[in-house]
Amino acid sequence: MEWMHAAGNTWFVDLKDALAAICLTGSGEAVLIDSGREERQELLTGLEARGLRVRAVLCTHLHRDHTANNLLLHTRHGAEIFATQAQINDREEVIPYPITTLGEEGGSVTIGGAVFESLPTPGHTPGQLAFVTPDGVCCVGDALLTLRRLAKAKLPYLEDVDTAIATMEALRQTDYPLYLASHDGLISRQELWETVEENIEKELEVYRQLRDLVQRPMAMDALVTAFMTSIGIRRSDVLQDVSYRATIRRRVESLVRAGEVEQRKGTLFPIKNR
Ligand SMILES: [Zn+2]
Repeated sequence: MEWMHAAGNTWFVDLKDALAAICLTGSGEAVLIDSGREERQELLTGLEARGLRVRAVLCTHLHRDHTANNLLLHTRHGAEIFATQAQINDREEVIPYPITTLGEEGGSVTIGGAVFESLPTPGHTPGQLAFVTPDGVCCVGDALLTLRRLAKAKLPYLEDVDTAIATMEALRQTDYPLYLASHDGLISRQELWETVEENIEKELEVYRQLRDLVQRPMAMDALVTAFMTSIGIRRSDVLQDVSYRATIRRRVESLVRAGEVEQRKGTLFPIKNR
């Protein structure tokens, strides 16, 4: 498993298209930020070959593609797992290891003398946090997609679009040398502005597409299906995926709140004379 360098003592590895940051905090200890999509013994072998014990895993959020090695690191290294209560509540299945809760409002976490700043970044999920390593690498979880990833993404998963956009705007105001997006890699300080801009533009484009699909009265479900078809989704398992449909429905609800589409008795109507 290749260890990629971010800055100073901050490295990262790819665990099946989901990155885990590894921060060396001194005296043979490491702190991970997220732990990837796939459980891999190789992660432990690599750490142990470098004489490292994982003292903690800081979870940006508890989606399965960010937590695959938490149990392994907890049982083998005694790693303490940190996440917010909102994250725990958001995950439906039972979590098979203890979690130390962090505040959703951000702050800092000190582990073995190393200080990690945490920033509230809700929207993709409730209670998501970004963590800044002592080397100034701001690990944003899924709060931002890189430009490369965005170009390929059909529809970013967001639980609350308006909150997610507010989070992107807040990240735009931060000033760290490097940002690490969980699914694609590093974003430089210079690329941050454009990255935020494009992430927001992607959402606005989805809003416009959804609004323009409402040309006549239609049911929410019909609009969700029409949108999925319009972005090229053909696979029936994806078309029926409950959380994928929900992330689209939430965008429609946001359009209704903004007065871009009207909703009466569960039916959506176009706004006339726009
Ligand atoms: Zn996620």
